[in-house]
Amino acid sequence: MATNLPAATGFLAEVRRDGARPLEPVFAARGSLARWHERTADRSLHIALVHSGAPDEACARDRGRTLVFAGELYNQEDLIGLLPGRVLPGSDAALVVALFDVYGIHAFRLLNGRFAALLTDHGHVVLATDHAGSVPLYVFVAPGKVLAATEAKALRAAPQGRPVPEGRPVRRRPGTHQVPAGSVLDIEVSTGTCVPHRTWTPPLARRILPEDEAVGTVRRTLERAVRARTGAGTPLVVLSGGIDSSAVAVLAVGRSAGPIDTVSMGTDEADEFPQARVVARHIGSVHREITVPTSDLLRGLPHAVWAAECLDPDVIEYLLPLTALYLRLGGTTGGDGTGRRILTGYGADIPLGGMHRENRLPQLDTAVCHDMDTFDGLNEMTPTLSAIAGHWSTHPYWDRDVLDVLVSLEAGLKRRHGRDKWVLRAALGDVLPHEVVVRPKIGVHEGSGTTSSFSRLLTDAGIPQDRVHDAKRLVVEEIFDQVVVDGRHPDDVALDTVVERVADRPAHRARPVPR
Ligand code: AMP
Ligand code: MG
Repeated sequence: MATNLPAATGFLAEVRRDGARPLEPVFAARGSLARWHERTADRSLHIALVHSGAPDEACARDRGRTLVFAGELYNQEDLIGLLPGRVLPGSDAALVVALFDVYGIHAFRLLNGRFAALLTDHGHVVLATDHAGSVPLYVFVAPGKVLAATEAKALRAAPQGRPVPEGRPVRRRPGTHQVPAGSVLDIEVSTGTCVPHRTWTPPLARRILPEDEAVGTVRRTLERAVRARTGAGTPLVVLSGGIDSSAVAVLAVGRSAGPIDTVSMGTDEADEFPQARVVARHIGSVHREITVPTSDLLRGLPHAVWAAECLDPDVIEYLLPLTALYLRLGGTTGGDGTGRRILTGYGADIPLGGMHRENRLPQLDTAVCHDMDTFDGLNEMTPTLSAIAGHWSTHPYWDRDVLDVLVSLEAGLKRRHGRDKWVLRAALGDVLPHEVVVRPKIGVHEGSGTTSSFSRLLTDAGIPQDRVHDAKRLVVEEIFDQVVVDGRHPDDVALDTVVERVADRPAHRARPVPR
């Protein structure tokens, strides 16, 4: 089936020497499920794939190796150029397995993409994440067994495993580890010995460039990242009307034969509809506004945690309004070719220090360094957020080349002439209305009223104001335990009960007023 989405958006793969029954595949990502089984003399390989119509393209076999690939590549042309004289690979998976034959594990240093991969290679299993770990990947290793999945919950029935070097343990799941961003794990199946390799790290040095050169580089690199992500169909951009998503939208228009689609979400408490409308009108997009009642928004908390498998309450506040939006886009039952390819402006603030509102450069670069050091494991960029509604989302600002450029620009190009994200604003100055170019940042958690309504949910339950942030963390943790560790469906999580339980913890009870 022709599709505008990657061949697979998730997988569970098990390499075993023990012949035990494979795990039941459990994913939050929606799509069709395909299963394969392969056996060699000394091991079996079971694969369960979440796909959108062309599962064969997510697996590739070459010279005794099998590759399972969820996601997509954005530098295929460059990569194909490395394989002169070969038959042109018909899929991203085939391209990667062909590159592996030439470069070995170093093939993964060449890829600019949004993917997680597993490759069986003669007694070894190689696991790989993209530079940003933007498709989460979890692993369980024991002698004779390697189980890997793009969602931790898919491994919840795995028994105790051994520690994975550099792996991040999953809360209350001993033996399940998250594979770090930008890395390859080379695992010997018989012994479970695991050797980690780093394939990308954020740039630490800063480049000094004249203004116009910096602006031109940002524009060109971002344009290329948007082009690589627009696919064959009509692009859909989730648009707030801020500079980040407006830039993506206007560049996507340049890639599309007809008008593009844009969509904005708001709640009954807050929205950025007027700001988004200015952009939609300017670029002539087919624009929709979706209003989500605040009570429904909050009821989506379990869905956001289920999709992102994230324990950070701040990140969940960013992801919750987007989850609500993706669930309401409609037009898909998953796997039937109607899932949309969605472009976002997500993540631009991290390399550009956009959340940093003071006018001082040391603090700005400290914030950039901190955020680039700590993004891994938050699953902020996970495609599962939109995949729970059968869609595929992708973030041009976290393209490997864009990120390399943005992180490495010296701080004075990021904040300049009294403006935050100056270099980006300047790079789009000729294609967006001035009011859009200079609009100050509003985070999605603010523009949708998510932070304040989540806070109110807790203060209404009797939690004192100064305990609210801590209580949010506990609410997210408890939801995580239910939907990831215990494998419950988010519709079956009683949010009110979770909130009551957190409010009943001694630390959260309002202190008695002294007489
Ligand atoms: P922000 O926190 O504003 O940087 O938001 C991150 C990304 O989420 C934006 O670049 C948009 O792509 C998307 N987004 C934010 N707010 C909205 C909204 N109200 N409606 C639709 N998409 C949004
Ligand atoms: Mg915004």
